[in-house]
Amino acid sequence: MAESMKGLHRTHRCTEVSNANIGEKVTVMGWVQKRRNLGSLIFIDLRDRSGILQLVFDEPKVGSEGFAKAGTLRSEFVIAVTGTVQKRAAAVNESLKTGDIEVIAEDIRVLSESETPPFPIEENSQTKEELRLRYRYLDLRRPDIQKNIMMKSKVSMLLRKFMEKEGFLEIETPMLTKSTPEGARDYLVPSRVHPGSFYALPQSPQLFKQLLMCSGYDRYFQIARCFRDEDLRADRQPEFTQADMELSFVDVDDVIEVNERLLQYVFKEAIGIDVQLPIQRMTWQEAMDRFGSDKPDTRFGMELVNVSDVVKGCGFGVFTGALENGGSVRGINAKGQGSMPRKKIDKLVEFAKGYGAKGLAYLAVNEDGTYKSSFAKFMTEEELKALVEKMEGQPGDLLLFAADKNKVVWDVLGALRLEIGRELGLMDKNKYNFLWVTEFPLLEWSDEENRFMAMHHPFTMPMEEDWDKIDSDPGAVRAKAYDIVLNGTEMGGGSVRIHQDDIQEKMFEVLGFTKERAHEQFGFLLDAFKYGVPPHAGLAYGLDRMVMLMLQCDSIRDVIAFPKVKDASCLMTEAPNVVDEKQLEELCIKVDVPEEVE
Ligand code: ASP
Repeated sequence: MAESMKGLHRTHRCTEVSNANIGEKVTVMGWVQKRRNLGSLIFIDLRDRSGILQLVFDEPKVGSEGFAKAGTLRSEFVIAVTGTVQKRAAAVNESLKTGDIEVIAEDIRVLSESETPPFPIEENSQTKEELRLRYRYLDLRRPDIQKNIMMKSKVSMLLRKFMEKEGFLEIETPMLTKSTPEGARDYLVPSRVHPGSFYALPQSPQLFKQLLMCSGYDRYFQIARCFRDEDLRADRQPEFTQADMELSFVDVDDVIEVNERLLQYVFKEAIGIDVQLPIQRMTWQEAMDRFGSDKPDTRFGMELVNVSDVVKGCGFGVFTGALENGGSVRGINAKGQGSMPRKKIDKLVEFAKGYGAKGLAYLAVNEDGTYKSSFAKFMTEEELKALVEKMEGQPGDLLLFAADKNKVVWDVLGALRLEIGRELGLMDKNKYNFLWVTEFPLLEWSDEENRFMAMHHPFTMPMEEDWDKIDSDPGAVRAKAYDIVLNGTEMGGGSVRIHQDDIQEKMFEVLGFTKERAHEQFGFLLDAFKYGVPPHAGLAYGLDRMVMLMLQCDSIRDVIAFPKVKDASCLMTEAPNVVDEKQLEELCIKVDVPEEVE
């Protein structure tokens, strides 16, 4: 039977008790991790979020009733125990923080009992994630998950502390709002008061933080929940948390400067990592050319090499064809992989196809200087030699080439580089390679929409140097946009915003917005800009991602208390779910799910 807390007061968390308390009376409360009966003694490992403490039940000390109670304890019972701290009678347990002490129980209350949990509450669980997420409240008891959740809290606190010191104000922005232009699908919320109208949940606080700049709150910050209805990948969640900021009267370097100090502070305080400043910067163009990615993992080399010049005019139609179509031919050198079996190479070719390649050309430099290659027969001895030289190919190396439009070549080789790097263990887990990627293209052509789209969002400022190209060559205009990348993952990004009417108008024009549509969607922002707008810029971190990277977790789900799974559902609450007919009626909503979707 569950007993009450009356008159009891917890004095310590489990691992707050230490050898400094020897001889003192303490009261601890928590969950039973394990019970061991050793004849006249019963040992209990007591667990709370701080860790484990050993309790000892000895009948003469705890009394016969207490001893009997201890004998009934099972895993996950919640108990309160008062007793005296003593040095461990048996050998010290080095793996425990409290391994040199124990508490000799004098009183015990069973605060609640537990059924046998569907999986053991222990570190490094072998239990399937699906089951763990269905019982997330139990999963959250596991020490490794607790460590993650506590780290997330710590990082949030550190961010707040830093921001406050730097003069930022924490200001909330609405959840029920209008569509924000971050380029994903919105989550919609129907309005009961305005039947047929919908709120959108914010994809980010973008428009509101810009408005706050118009209102004079020159340094804003918020730990904000954002919602994006995208197809989920391993590191995405439909709702996630941003550490979001905006500053007035600043340019790119100002934003970077304060954020470098922020990263240095937070990484040092949270995980003891020294971030060397200044953080390396690389333009988007350089990142693509060297790594085939706008978020390069710079912990290892295997950089892309543009061999277009070398293969121009060669006899291999795949190469020359790509060049004639305005594309390029590039390669990577997988050092020492020349003896890779054919089967494995074929696998790489399939992998490349998954990234849009029509094929993958390879050339292995044999130890005797001859080649094993998918295309050598189409090229002369001199052409091959020049190609291998350009790739700095040595005997034993495997050269892999993609020939296509630049975008495809970058995607394919960028992904291949990571795949091979992973396989060969080239990514040093102990390295924290930070990188700013700057000067992103302002626009990105969408074949699907047959128009330019904003690469960041429509309020991002083009670089002054490129203003004159907005009409003549919009695709070549670079933006004052920047991402912060850590070990190949985008941890955050932002931009300087447009604060001039004429440039904003031009931007909308290039994006194919009519004046009316721009006004319909963002009228309030454009109006606000008429009344004195300071130049401003900002950035947002994916907080979940930041913590995931700090802890080197495999999944973002490991740092979110109640995450969703791939199909955006919550296995525990079973959201989303059907609702009462009455609720729908109030909202004037009729549901009509096509059969094939059901
Ligand atoms: N709102 C942007 C985003 O969510 C960040 C920014 O531009 O400040 O990516």
